[in-house]
This record gives sequence, structure tokens and C-alpha cells, in this order.
Amino acid sequence: MLRDFVYNDGTRAVIDMSALNQVGFDPVRKAWFVDAGCENWTVYRTLLNGFGKTLPAGSCYSVGAGGHITGGGYGLLSRLHGLTVDHLTGVDIVTWDALSRQARLRHVSEASSDGAERDLFWALRGAGCGNFGVIARYWFADLPDAPDHAALLTLAWNWSDLTEDRFAGLLHLYAEIVAAMPESDFSLLKLNHVAAGQIGLIYQSVSPPGTTAADHRLRVAGQARMLRSRLGAIAPTSPLLRPLGGHPGMMTTLPASENENHLTYLEALQTLNGSGPNQFGKYKSAYMKKGFPADQVAAIHHWLQTVPEGVAASDMAQSLLQVDSYGGRINRVSPTATCVPQRSSIMKLQYQTYWNNDSTAGMPLSPADRAQEEAHLGWINRFYAAVYVRTGGTPDPARDPSGTVDGCYFNYPDVELGSHARGDVDHALRLYFLENFRDNPRNLVAIKRHWDPEDYFHHAQSLPVR
Ligand SMILES: Cc1cc2nc3c(=O)[nH]c(=O)nc-3n(C[C@H](O)[C@H](O)[C@H](O)COP(=O)(O)OP(=O)(O)OC[C@H]3O[C@@H](n4cnc5c(N)ncnc54)[C@H](O)[C@@H]3O)c2cc1C
Repeated sequence: MLRDFVYNDGTRAVIDMSALNQVGFDPVRKAWFVDAGCENWTVYRTLLNGFGKTLPAGSCYSVGAGGHITGGGYGLLSRLHGLTVDHLTGVDIVTWDALSRQARLRHVSEASSDGAERDLFWALRGAGCGNFGVIARYWFADLPDAPDHAALLTLAWNWSDLTEDRFAGLLHLYAEIVAAMPESDFSLLKLNHVAAGQIGLIYQSVSPPGTTAADHRLRVAGQARMLRSRLGAIAPTSPLLRPLGGHPGMMTTLPASENENHLTYLEALQTLNGSGPNQFGKYKSAYMKKGFPADQVAAIHHWLQTVPEGVAASDMAQSLLQVDSYGGRINRVSPTATCVPQRSSIMKLQYQTYWNNDSTAGMPLSPADRAQEEAHLGWINRFYAAVYVRTGGTPDPARDPSGTVDGCYFNYPDVELGSHARGDVDHALRLYFLENFRDNPRNLVAIKRHWDPEDYFHHAQSLPVR
């Protein structure tokens, strides 16, 4: 649960959406629907088993449709099919009417006769989380067909084999590969902290319905050969010792291999379906339009070797920078078609750190647990500031004449970028929404002012009304 987003010390009640959990096809409206209380796994399984359809949404099974879809929603099929909001055609939302003092359920879409409702629908395609009302149901006039075939492969490198030059070479080549790879493919480069012992690449390749198994295998084999030979030439690969960092999927049960594992799409989904125990964590994000400049590589290398004071090295084994491939179909959508403006990036970065202790929810942290939290937060915040030192400590495109960085992802909210409490929320919202925040003729601040003039829906980084 996100502090000051869905919960803070003054919270009296939390709306439990979990009973709104249907997924299906409505013959009257002739559209698919996903209720806001669903979790990703329910959505994937129902669409796939019932209709052979899917969404290009996130990989973690427990993420809720409520925030995930309206915040953008991307995943391993997004290079092939775009963002989830690119497919959204309608939203059922309960808004609060400040004049009549009444809540009202309305269906908003591109086809709404009221221009203000069309604007609201635009804003819900990327910025809906806790800003305009309570979303009950998402609608999709059409959905992508689920792929027939999928293959996964994993390459890993021992940190002990990685000189700084080899590390830089891998990052450089990775950017080159993702910029050129087929849209059916997606990769996650997991730059784990040195405490994990290895870094690694997970590569998924799917083929559209209608592709024969033989054609699929042939294409994937060629791609796998290319990856092994080009990346392996920079630094020798090693068998994977344990699941790669972040939210471990089922890599432990499926043999992770440098050779392609051929799977059904459902098995691929399950394999990369991040799971594991509940724990504390902190994310930061960055979009990248080009490969890593040398100063960023040096900062990344340095911070992946750094153990913050107050924690044991082993406590950093789950900390990483994950570099996802991006682009493809996502980048064929205009920056103003939805309110997600980042439509020319080739990579999306997730800085992640996780920690565990036996503290009790709702109770103050012990001094030791507090020190552990501060050590992890200090590490990730200093790591990030060092990578973006040339652009003011954040991936701010307005301060980047080289055109490398392109802001941050709203669905990885980071209060360090700015917040209402600190008086600098505009900085964060500019990084998330660029010109769609307040500069473009259709902009989020104007839409918020129209639909929620009293700022009824408010959180640490909610849209301001002026
Ligand atoms: C483990 C993990 C993995 C993730 N993986 C991905 C990924 O692969 N791809 C990706 O795009 N994102 C990913 N995310 C980010 C995820 O999309 C966001 O955290 C998302 O906001 C979660 O939505 P939720 O409803 O589960 O969360 P909550 O914490 O309940 O809500 C998040 C925000 O959305 C608002 N909100 C929730 N429900 C509604 C509703 N019905 N109406 C209006 N506002 C609502 C809340 O008020 C809050 O501001 C991941 C997050 C986690 C924790």
C-alpha cells in the first residue's frame, strides 16, 4: 500500500474494490470489460481462457486493475500491442459533483456527446489514479489476440567476470539491440547489485496467432543465436545461479536456460508473473530515448557496488536497476492521443530496492527497522541523483540538450520527485506528463479543475486544480 497515495495517518476508511471483479464481454455494448477490483492474474486468465484475448498489461499477478490500467499499464506485450490505455475505449467512473454535492456514476468515452466527458476520458488514459473519481469498470471495444507461441531465454553474467569496460559494453550493446529488435520481443535487463552475484537478461519472444510452431521456432532460434553471440562476445555468460532480482517469478521452477524454452503463452505469463513474499520496496523510474551516456554508465556501475551504511551486503541482494525494452507499437501513438506523452523511448528504467523485517503494520518502526528503511531509501535516492546529475538529479528532458531522457512513469510514483507536502508537486507531474500536464491546449490541470474543483480526490502527487 502506498503511503499518502491510498493511505496516511488520517485515513478513516479505504474503499474495498475487490468485490467488483468481473471480466467478460458485454453483448449489448459489444465490448470487453474489466472491473476495477480485478487483479492482473484474473484478467489474463479470464481473457485468455474465455476469449483467446489478452491485454498488454503488467507482469505481476497481484497488481490491481484499478490503478494499473488508468495509470498507463505496460508489460511484455507492449512493444507488440502498445499500452493498455491505448486500447481503452470507455470508463465507468463515480465522480463527485461539487455543486449538487452528489456522487454520480457515468460512462465516459471518446464518443461522449459532452466535450468535458471526452476530456475526462482522455485524462483517465494515463492519469486516473486517485485524481478524478472512483473507477468501477474499464471498457475495450477490441482486444489483442493472445499469442499462440512464446519462448523465453535467460542470459546471466557473473559480477566477478565484469570489468567496468565490459559492463559499459553490455549496456551500450543492449540499447542497440532493443532499438532494433522485432516488436514481438521484449527484454528485461536485470542489473542486480553486486551482492546478488550476477546480472542477467530475460528475453521473451512471442508469435502472433496464425504463425506455425515451426516458423516461430525458426525465428526465435535466430534471435537467440544473435543474442548469445553478440552479448556473449562482450563478456562470458554463466549459468544462472538463482532467480534474477526484483519480484522473482517462477524462474525457480522452470529451468532458466540460455537456450530458448518453448512455452504456451499462459506458461510464459506464469513464469514471468512476479510473485514472492510481501516486503517493503521502493521504485524509481526513467524513460530513455537513446543509449546510456558514459557518465550514467559510470554512476550505475558505482552504485551497484555500493553497500549503504547500516545494512549487511546480503540485504542488497534484491536491489537492482531493471532496464526494460520499450517502444515498438507504443511509439506509433501520438504524445497527445492519451495523456501518456512518452512516445519515443526505447527503454524504460525501473530502479528497485526491497527489504524485509518483522515490523507490525500500523505500528511505529523500531530504531533498527527505521535505520534499515533509511539505508535502502538513501541508497536508491543517491543512486538516482548520481545517474541524472547532469539534468538536475532527475531524468528531466527540459534540462537535457542531448535528448536522452524523457521523464518518469506515473505508475511508479516517487515522492522524491516532488509532492504537495513539499510544495514542489509540479516538478513530479511535469516529469510524468511533460506538456500534457499544463501546457498543451488539452491539459490535465484544466481537466482536474473542471471535474474536481474542490480537490476532493487528493494524494501526495494528485493533480493540482490550478
Ligand atoms: C509488484 C509490482 C509490480 C508492478 N509491475 C508493473 C508492470 O509490470 N507494469 C506497469 O505498468 N506497472 C506495474 N506496477 C505499477 C502498478 O501499475 C501501480 O502500482 C498501480 O497504480 C497499481 O494499482 P493498484 O490498484 O494495485 O494499486 P493501489 O495502490 O490500490 O492504487 C494506486 C493508485 O491508484 C488509485 N486507484 C486505485 N484504484 C482506483 C480506482 N478504482 N479508481 C481510481 N483510482 C484508483 C489509488 O487511489 C492510488 O492513487 C507494479 C507495481 C508493483 C507493486
